[in-house]
Amino acid sequence: MILRMSTLFLRTLREDPVDAEVPSHKLLVRAGYVRRAAPGIYSWLPLGYTVLRNVEAIVREEMNAIGAQEVHFPALLPREPYEATNRWEEYGDNLFRLKDRKGGDYLLGPTHEEMFTLLVKDLYSSYKDLPLALYQIQTKYRDEARPRAGILRGREFVMKDSYTFDVSDEAFMTSYLAHRAAYIKIFDRLGLDYVIVKATSGAMGGSASEEFLATAENGEDTYVRSPGGYAANVEAVTTPVPPPLPYDDEPAAHAEDTPDTPTIETLVAHLNERFPRADRPWHASDTLKNVLVILHHPDGTREPLAVGVPGDREVDEKRLQAQVEPAELEPFTEADFAAHPALVRGYIGPGVLGEKNASGIRYLVDPRVVEGTRWVTGANTPGQHVIDLVAGRDFTADGTIEAAEVRAGDPAPDGSGPLETARGIEMGHIFQLGRKYSEALGLQVLDENGKLVTVTMGSYGVGVSRAVAAIVENSHDDAGIVWPREVAPADVHIVATGKDDAVFEAASSLADELDAAGVRVLFDDRRGVSPGVKFKDSELIGVPTIVVVGRGLADGVVEVKDRATGEREEVAVGAAVDRLREIVAE
Ligand code: ATP
Ligand code: MG
Repeated sequence: MILRMSTLFLRTLREDPVDAEVPSHKLLVRAGYVRRAAPGIYSWLPLGYTVLRNVEAIVREEMNAIGAQEVHFPALLPREPYEATNRWEEYGDNLFRLKDRKGGDYLLGPTHEEMFTLLVKDLYSSYKDLPLALYQIQTKYRDEARPRAGILRGREFVMKDSYTFDVSDEAFMTSYLAHRAAYIKIFDRLGLDYVIVKATSGAMGGSASEEFLATAENGEDTYVRSPGGYAANVEAVTTPVPPPLPYDDEPAAHAEDTPDTPTIETLVAHLNERFPRADRPWHASDTLKNVLVILHHPDGTREPLAVGVPGDREVDEKRLQAQVEPAELEPFTEADFAAHPALVRGYIGPGVLGEKNASGIRYLVDPRVVEGTRWVTGANTPGQHVIDLVAGRDFTADGTIEAAEVRAGDPAPDGSGPLETARGIEMGHIFQLGRKYSEALGLQVLDENGKLVTVTMGSYGVGVSRAVAAIVENSHDDAGIVWPREVAPADVHIVATGKDDAVFEAASSLADELDAAGVRVLFDDRRGVSPGVKFKDSELIGVPTIVVVGRGLADGVVEVKDRATGEREEVAVGAAVDRLREIVAE
């Protein structure tokens, strides 16, 4: 196919769109791939739609290759199945809910676990029918709080979602690993730099889960990696638990006046001045900071929660959120303080925290707070802190929680070295659902022994539209986009320059010959557009190979330029088709 720029529905822009912050957003709009229709909602123009379909084709091929079968569900879905799994509520404000003319509740699908589970339940009933893998490439709707970065985070976006159905957990592992292998092929073919990280299960429930993150400086996801190959989403990092310490010889806890110490910093300074340690100065990490939040549960109830972390670390809200899902975090308000008079603001300590203590508030502490560790913490009296409070002797929490921030230099949980942080864009997610959905919706089959068993499921997503933007994030320069060949809107961009009819005729026959040889051609056949503008456009659009047919034609040559490296070579007109076929096949 030849795309002729004289008629192609395309306007490139010299200026960045005002609302664009990240390179992919700027470039995809400027190069005429997408146009914004509403916040987080985009239209695909011919070049963009071609790239989107190229990405889809790669995903489809690799899904088919592992025996997954393509289906297509509606995007407009009834409420009932989502009611059965609680997600009509749990999804919160992210769900687009709507009513039909009779007042019936509907939603625009944010993801389709329920529908797939019910469809399989409808038609299958025996272990002999399994394993089964189904997928679709579908438009999804999520009313994201911060639609940003163009199509990286849209409110309408294209996702490949697949689901596997197995008779046992062992059988499931085979399905999971097949998907994992397919994802590696997909992201390799998309030309992305990516890492596979351990992830938390998120709102979907289930346990094992991995994410594929495209490495990108301005990615929204922070992950950590170690020199020994550990990689995890920050939400999934676990803290190595130190061994318990002996405490028989520790001094008894003692409350002390610590006036004017509203911050950990002022507290530590005060301790060093008034209560110096013999062995070393006090550190912020000797203090135990207790943070109060409210958990808003899906059933509408509000539960206060106290989280204790070493004073040198902040509570990481995303980590905490991941731990308490499906509950949502809310601030602890004035009214909540009023309702818990045992809490002395600024001086809250383990003495009143915990389900069995005066406040009755559930108290979860950082895993570093092991038996025998000594802490300085609030004494539950205005202006006082308690020193030498020993965990396991003087207080016991209701449990531990991974809520403290993860820092560069922290040890990897598997002993593979110190962690460093990096950023990425979540491209794909493979997910062990277990029996959450099959239980909620009653998907059972008869096993070999004629016994009813609940099906084990997996769910797997690829951000298809997001991939288009992530590829641009990964692959661009100051002049524009640099597409990997397989997803590019064309293989070769022929630029005809000048006013000479002979040039346009030669360029046109080159385009025809390439087209006949199966090479995808974008042909800048515009008359009266300056060479400078055409060159700029070709760099902005980002087709991997650019061929300039112009002045050189008088000497019988065209110029072939590699968009990525900038390397140029002169090729005799007669040899151009062969040379270009060779480049395209590389
Ligand atoms: P995120 O953490 O980025 O919000 P998610 O965990 O909600 O993503 P999943 O429900 O696992 O995402 O969806 C599968 C894939 O769909 C993601 O890996 C991502 O590539 C893509 N995706 C999710 N939300 C969006 C969005 N708003 N816009 C574009 N792509 C998205
Ligand atoms: Mg996810």
